[in-house]
Amino acid sequence: MTANAPETHPSDETLRGQRVGDFSLRHIGADESAQKAMLDVVGYESLDALADAAVPSTIRQEEALALEDPRTEAEVLAELRALAKKNQTAVQMIGQGYYDTITPPVLRRNILEDPAWYTAYTPYQPEISQGRLEALLNFQTMVQDLTGLPIANASLLDEASAVAEAALFMRRANKKVKEGAILVDSEILPQSLAVLQGRSEALGFDVVVIDVANGLAQYEGDVVGLVLQQPGVSGVVRDLKDVIAEAKGRGAMVTVAADLLSLTLIEAPGLQGADVAVGSAQRFGVPLFFGGPHAAYMAVAKGLERSLPGRLVGVSVDDAGLPAYRLALQTREQHIRREKATSNICTAQALLAIVASMYAVYHGPDGLTRIAERVHGHARSLAASLAGAGLELLHDAPFDTVTVSVPRRAADVVAAAKERGINLRLAGTDAVGISADETTTEAVIADVVAAFTETLGLEGELVSADAAEGFEIPESTRRESEFLTHPIFHSHRSETQMLRYLRKLSDRDLALDRTMIPLGSCTMKLNATAEMEAISWPEFASIHPFAPDEQTVGWRELISGLEDDLAAITGYDRVSIQPNAGSQGELAGLLAIRGYHLANGDSNRDVCLIPASAHGTNAASAVLAGMRVVVVATAEDGTIDAADLTAKIEANEGRIAAIMITYPSTHGVYDGDVRDVCEAVHAAGGQVYIDGANMNALVGLAQPGKFGGDVSHLNLHKTFCIPHGGGGPGVGPVAVRKHLAPFLPGDANAWHGGADVPVSASRFGSAGVLPISWAYVKLMGGAGLTRATQAALLAANYVSKRLADYYPTLYTGQSGLVAHECILDLRELTAKSGVTAEDVAKRLIDYGFHAPTLAFPVAGTLMVEPTESEDLGEIERFIEAMISIRAEIDAVAHHEIDLEASPLRRSPHTAAAVVDSSWDRAYSREEGAFPGTTSRQDKYFPPVGRIDGAGGDRNLVCSCPPIESFEN
Ligand SMILES: *Cc1c(COP(=O)(O)O)cnc(C)c1O
Repeated sequence: MTANAPETHPSDETLRGQRVGDFSLRHIGADESAQKAMLDVVGYESLDALADAAVPSTIRQEEALALEDPRTEAEVLAELRALAKKNQTAVQMIGQGYYDTITPPVLRRNILEDPAWYTAYTPYQPEISQGRLEALLNFQTMVQDLTGLPIANASLLDEASAVAEAALFMRRANKKVKEGAILVDSEILPQSLAVLQGRSEALGFDVVVIDVANGLAQYEGDVVGLVLQQPGVSGVVRDLKDVIAEAKGRGAMVTVAADLLSLTLIEAPGLQGADVAVGSAQRFGVPLFFGGPHAAYMAVAKGLERSLPGRLVGVSVDDAGLPAYRLALQTREQHIRREKATSNICTAQALLAIVASMYAVYHGPDGLTRIAERVHGHARSLAASLAGAGLELLHDAPFDTVTVSVPRRAADVVAAAKERGINLRLAGTDAVGISADETTTEAVIADVVAAFTETLGLEGELVSADAAEGFEIPESTRRESEFLTHPIFHSHRSETQMLRYLRKLSDRDLALDRTMIPLGSCTMKLNATAEMEAISWPEFASIHPFAPDEQTVGWRELISGLEDDLAAITGYDRVSIQPNAGSQGELAGLLAIRGYHLANGDSNRDVCLIPASAHGTNAASAVLAGMRVVVVATAEDGTIDAADLTAKIEANEGRIAAIMITYPSTHGVYDGDVRDVCEAVHAAGGQVYIDGANMNALVGLAQPGKFGGDVSHLNLHKTFCIPHGGGGPGVGPVAVRKHLAPFLPGDANAWHGGADVPVSASRFGSAGVLPISWAYVKLMGGAGLTRATQAALLAANYVSKRLADYYPTLYTGQSGLVAHECILDLRELTAKSGVTAEDVAKRLIDYGFHAPTLAFPVAGTLMVEPTESEDLGEIERFIEAMISIRAEIDAVAHHEIDLEASPLRRSPHTAAAVVDSSWDRAYSREEGAFPGTTSRQDKYFPPVGRIDGAGGDRNLVCSCPPIESFEN
């Protein structure tokens, strides 16, 4: 309860036995009578009886979740306000990779706060994702133009991990020098260096920091790659052409970590000879968020696209020959390549990349240049004023950042500025850094100058930008080349145009605000408005990750509270919320295991056992943690093959580092013998990693920390209500038992080697979205969370039972029940009719649905996870669509219609296709567009027909196509 809550609150009253304002009744879609009807079909008396039958007694938790009582939405918002009040906003001039920015309100409200954008899933089904794919293609085009490199991906997790990815990329792609060091500019951001060093240690390559001003001769060994920072952490802008040429002369590849805004004034790294550019797109309209989520970018030179990590949007054509977007070159990704993937990244930062791209669309090249020039003017004004007062600057070529030498007085100056409400960067004991940004005003610059002169007893006055001389960007590095020339960056200057563009794109997509998204393993549940509201409050959103502790009291209270709640839920001892995706949680967990073995002197333990059915990120993460993947077979019934497990353990005696298992398994069932598996691996000296992506089947019923796990990651963007954002943000907390706690990730900004290897740029990763999960737990309480799990079990078992006669469920566990998802097996139908699971996925679009998970974990199947948030009406609508599709499959099987001519194969149907006057298909227009009971009023028409993915990969185009190509 908050201090100012009234004594008798309406929530204390009850209505028909239910607490008024009980949020769990809003979160859970099916009400009591609907649940009764569903239980009847499944064959159980009550939710408790169903859970007792489904969940093996060997793993059931004995006690109810020890969480605080549930709050109403009003109460939770009041508590969040009280926490927000404990944070202090300030003028943020710390810089070091994070800069304040103005989020145009039209973008804040219509992207960040609009469920049409934030509740969308990753665009694997491209026909219903054209809007967000276009926005992400704009992002790629923007990055390509600014960096001068032809291929850019659709975001990475943060700048520090992007630098690490770039180093690994150079090690993969360099054909001239295959082994050798990664040299790193001494001007690199400290957090990037720490994350890179953490990665290099696990993989066993050298990272050597050098002062590039003295050339590369100082390092004599082989060099695979060089990483430069432009502008440097001190703010210096240097002409890097010579050092880039020198590195390339030695066979090295070159990465430039570059600030995107500065690239409007500084020549593109690609044109200076760099092979790779990485960095953060945060200052393009994305709030500081106490460290994240922010989109990082990566761009590479021609011919290197197949080694690129992360998602890549490309242009292909649909069945009518019109341009259409889809994810390109997916064969690089972990879903297919597993331990040979280009990286472990799955969820990236799509929503934030979309905001950044729209910031560029809204401002255009001229607007961005004006913003950059103003920022640069403030930096020059600052440099001239401080130099005029007699202070020594570390360099005289700033873009936005000036670093001032103040021997032994740095802390005093920073404290004086703080008194004035301004945060500066303490760069050791002898220097202070000041970064200007889009929000900086002349008055702020005057205040900063005064903080220096008053503290140090100097005379000085403000020199305006116009009068500042001698602090220019070096002539040889000034930007000459054009950028953002595509019409899309020139046609949305008015707010009306911008608003309509955003609406047009979001209307092309199917997100949770229109339909259930029954994606197995992804848990697309409600992202409640009350959970979302706090994230854009300035007291949360405008806090710099390196702000002094006394300004972040509320943030840290919220975060440690959430970590404690997650520990209580999972049965582990400690939780770190630092990893900013499930994949990074896996890496953090595996690095903890590695650190533990090394600390015990077990340096031979490098084998990671992974079941054949595991998510692709598991294998890719194991490789990044320096482990060897050994695959364990799946038994007939979908469980881990016990004989194969024994054989693999014996074959690798003394070398087992870990097993990674998903529980309930990716097959959607609770394996009854999971304790035996854990014990066998423990007996062999290994640690047990339980992938917690399926925690929605466990919360309140069983705890991985208690039934054998040593470490798990969770996906807060699955189980704990952070929206999927069209492919990110995510949060992948890592939870451990006590013995692994010393190995949880530490603060990259303060890390100097040690067991607590950081995985993200900032201490609390994607802190900005944590209020969502915090609110969810508080709103539900222990009993509500447990009921949600039971309701999720009920929904999945209901779908499985109702569809049993049409599509058999591949695996069931004890009592013939599934867990929170079910795999519908289409392989026999495909054998009989030729209709594939993909045809069914595409045909569901005509019925207005997003497809279930296709071909994972078993090819030829669809994995359905309805979640607890769907009501019975929506679940029935889905079931009816699936039954109606079964009749269409039968028509093909019985040769009533040819497969190629069938509505299944020719789905999805665009409006243009069904109104075409030359319609000559073997079925009616009505059957095409309005199959079954599809609503005439609320019809969703996909903007494109079925897309040719392979064709697009053969002829790769990954930037905005010319407008004319859309003319029909
Ligand atoms: C989603 C998922 C992951 C990866 O999580 P990301 O946040 O996308 O990196 C890992 N394992 C399983 C089983 C998953 O379903």
